[in-house]
Amino acid sequence: MRIALIAHDELKDEMVEFVTAHADALGECDLVTTGTTGKRIADETGLAVNRQASGPYGGDLQIGGMIADDEIHGVVFLRDPLTAQAHEPDISALLRVCDVKDVPLATNVASAEMVVDGLLGGD
Ligand code: PGA
Repeated sequence: MRIALIAHDELKDEMVEFVTAHADALGECDLVTTGTTGKRIADETGLAVNRQASGPYGGDLQIGGMIADDEIHGVVFLRDPLTAQAHEPDISALLRVCDVKDVPLATNVASAEMVVDGLLGGD
């Protein structure tokens, strides 16, 4: 199982908390992340991650490409709805390809719990 994890800056603390709470289940998966999110996760949880570029430098598109290639089984993308992001078109493209490929996508912690429980059988 390969899961993508992405969080905007205001949500990175929540992402680290989420990954910590589900470390046993997520530790069994391949984790793919954007650059800064992955650095925080690796440093603060000790889990191994496959880091792509930082989001504003194309990381969202790299992960979108993996989804298009059927390489990702689920996405947790903790989006900040209150702050404009320079790479909004890339984010929209990532969300769109999840819908095209019918890949489960959570954009907040409440739905992330459900995606991880659904894919990994709870924690
Ligand atoms: P980051 O990218 O993890 O490199 O901050 C996330 C994003 O902005 O989409």
